Amino acid sequence: MDFELTEELKMLKEMAYKFAVAEIAPLSQDCDEKEKYIPEIRKKAAQNGLVGAWIPEEYGGAGAGILGNTIITEELSKVDMGICLNVVAATFGCESIYQYGTEEQKKFYLPPICSGEKVCAGAYTEPNAGTDVAGYKTRAVKDGKDYIINGNKMFITNGTVCDFMVAQCITNPEEKKHNSFSLIIVPADAKGITRNKIHGKMGIRASDTAEIALEDVRVPQANLVGKEGQGFRELMHFFDTTRVMVSAQALGISEACLETSIKYVKERTAFGAPLGSYQLTQMKLTEMAIRIEALRGLIYKAAWLIDQGKPDYTLAAMAKFFGGQTAVFCANYAVELHGGYGYIEEYPVQKWYRDAKILELYEGTKEAEIMTIGRYLQTR
Ligand SMILES: Cc1cc2nc3c(=O)[nH]c(=O)nc-3n(C[C@H](O)[C@H](O)[C@H](O)COP(=O)(O)OP(=O)(O)OC[C@H]3O[C@@H](n4cnc5c(N)ncnc54)[C@H](O)[C@@H]3O)c2cc1C
Repeated sequence: MDFELTEELKMLKEMAYKFAVAEIAPLSQDCDEKEKYIPEIRKKAAQNGLVGAWIPEEYGGAGAGILGNTIITEELSKVDMGICLNVVAATFGCESIYQYGTEEQKKFYLPPICSGEKVCAGAYTEPNAGTDVAGYKTRAVKDGKDYIINGNKMFITNGTVCDFMVAQCITNPEEKKHNSFSLIIVPADAKGITRNKIHGKMGIRASDTAEIALEDVRVPQANLVGKEGQGFRELMHFFDTTRVMVSAQALGISEACLETSIKYVKERTAFGAPLGSYQLTQMKLTEMAIRIEALRGLIYKAAWLIDQGKPDYTLAAMAKFFGGQTAVFCANYAVELHGGYGYIEEYPVQKWYRDAKILELYEGTKEAEIMTIGRYLQTR
């Protein structure tokens, strides 16, 4: 057993953090205030091998594995979780293409994502069903060599900036719910697609989120990912990886909260002594640090297992659940430790407080993770 990162991973970690400080930090406040998505940052990140780093070199990626990608996500999220998403979630949805797609699909769709030219989106959630994946209604009907798709997708990350999306559709309504779905690649500029950016998010405002309507959208049946009727299971396996990535966002933002708070309590004085000299302050820092350390162990193990070809669905759900909880916990303490200053925009902790909450909502709410873990515990 070896808890040490390899030299390569240490270098990747350092490079990713330097990139975030140099390129992302200067944009952070403006992108948050104005809900700006800046494509150039993704392109610059791609030049440094930071986009789709988990994708093997033969498909244009850096071949850094899921652990490598986890570390990149952690480092970028220390600086800005929304802009981090613009970089690392440019591949969101591609996990299924990589896992279940044909060789042709992998060679066609993955390289332009890794080079920063194109962006993918994973279109699953619908206006009337999120947690209840089996409740999605978007329908794909065969017509000659095509599918004709009708339905609505909601809260789609990269929705208005993506070039294509991997959408969950009902293709086999005659089958039982879980056997009725398929994942289909849909070009974002296909006739019949309307995309509207959702404004006014509480946090991660640099990330693009959209509502997408599909009306008689025609795509070739060759765009089916994996097997028809297997979309539900394929989506569940997709979460093995993506939940680990989301928990890495949580790790990064939690670390930022702790480091910034440590600096602050060493400088700020009250009653004639630094805040950090008081035990109540030390308790807050300590609780943050312990949670962060435990979270890192959980995430790195889940990521490492994926790279070993042994993904653990439950461990990924645990990392995601604990990640969201840790980020919200740390952001809350960070604001408290900064006192009134923590509540104003001059200090980043108020932004991290707003950003952190999404980690308990997307990619499965915390309740959805509890259901996954709770069910597993009774089947062991
Ligand atoms: C900024 C942002 C980005 C997103 N990006 C994407 C994306 O890229 N692609 C995508 O497909 N989706 C995306 N989502 C959607 C996100 O994954 C869903 O919002 C989330 O899964 C919850 O679904 P919902 O909003 O429909 O809530 P609901 O499913 O309606 O849940 C509402 C509440 O009820 C709880 N609940 C539901 N069922 C149960 C139950 N059985 N027992 C107890 N409690 C329950 C939930 O946990 C939650 O607290 C994004 C959302 C946001 C806000």
